[in-house]
Amino acid sequence: MASGTLEARFGRLSVDDNKKDPNNRKTTYPKFKTTTSSSTQLPQSSNRSNYLLKVAIENNSNSPLRNPVVKSGRSKGSEESVDVGQKPCPISKQPPVAPKQFHLGMFEIGRPLGKGKFGRVYLARERKTGFVCALKVLYKSEIRKGGVEEQVRREIEIQSHLRHPNILHLLGHFHDSKRIFLILEFAGRGELYKHLTREGRFPEWKAAQYVAQMALALQFCHKKHVIHRDIKPENILVGIHGELKIADFGWSVHAPSQRRNTLCGTLDYLPPDIVRQQWYSEKVDLWSLGVLMYEFLVGSAPFEDSVVLTHRRIVRCEYNVPNFVSREAKDLIEKLLVVAPEKRISLEELQEHPWIVKYCVEGERASMRRSTMASGKSSSDGESSRSFGVGE
Ligand code: AMP
Repeated sequence: MASGTLEARFGRLSVDDNKKDPNNRKTTYPKFKTTTSSSTQLPQSSNRSNYLLKVAIENNSNSPLRNPVVKSGRSKGSEESVDVGQKPCPISKQPPVAPKQFHLGMFEIGRPLGKGKFGRVYLARERKTGFVCALKVLYKSEIRKGGVEEQVRREIEIQSHLRHPNILHLLGHFHDSKRIFLILEFAGRGELYKHLTREGRFPEWKAAQYVAQMALALQFCHKKHVIHRDIKPENILVGIHGELKIADFGWSVHAPSQRRNTLCGTLDYLPPDIVRQQWYSEKVDLWSLGVLMYEFLVGSAPFEDSVVLTHRRIVRCEYNVPNFVSREAKDLIEKLLVVAPEKRISLEELQEHPWIVKYCVEGERASMRRSTMASGKSSSDGESSRSFGVGE
């Protein structure tokens, strides 16, 4: 599983961690084992480990790296507790724990998962708990060169505070002299963009469940006064159960009531309020959700054209919905892609829309989803009352 060359590369890089391994263990990067080993035994006393374990089970239950000594005692409707061979302990009732000090020596590094603009992402496993995660390595020099220090800081701050099944969780971060390491929840099915490219477009039942999940995640963000501002398939990952995870908060902002007018995001997905550089609110995410929904169903974005024409078509809201898209889906697209931000359908109303209800609340697919998606039901702080999964 682990790449020998990768490990060698990590070994060669000076692992000049700010925090040394408290147990003074050798910092080597052995291959992951998929069988039980003493190194994967769970510590019985650490609340933090229980917490990590809970997330590990949620996200990695089908992972080949799943710790075989761990048994998920999850049952339908009991999202907040987990059987780790001891009494289930509701996360919300656990006493606050001091933030854990992470360092590179605590992780075994596995195969590369992907490459971003400022670094690479690797599959990783915390040695002590066997917790499987994604380790994003950002180079400070690249971040400085790109002038994105503020964006990275914002991403870390915002993403680490949002806990929702449809938002990729940032579990922690640490740095050395050259690099910043982000410990991320592992999204087992990779990039949504690749799924869409492979499938061309999604069937309506799947698109509806995806849109509903995005609506829940955005509703959660907006309640926390966070505007995402860059919703698009490239910024969404797919979890092991087929559930969507918003992954990139580089353009998001805290919006404590005031509105902002920075031009950001990718042109195809930008709403007229941002394109015109007007003051705007969290309603920008509703427009982008409309664009996303269109792309799910049609396979291309509604305003896709040359830069000048895309700009013009966005502010005029000029797009065509092909005939193969159902009447109900078209109706919801039209309610999201509305030039006047205040007239866009709300996220609450969206969840009651007939197209969403048809595929996410009623019918065979929905009941299938309910049974397969019980694991992704609620946010840890209980703010999300519904879940819309993809039962594949
Ligand atoms: P990024 O730098 O965030 O754009 O990540 C680069 C690529 O790494 C993504 O396009 C994904 O393919 C992959 N990746 C990033 N984060 C994760 C994750 N948490 N789980 C699985 N794959 C990831």
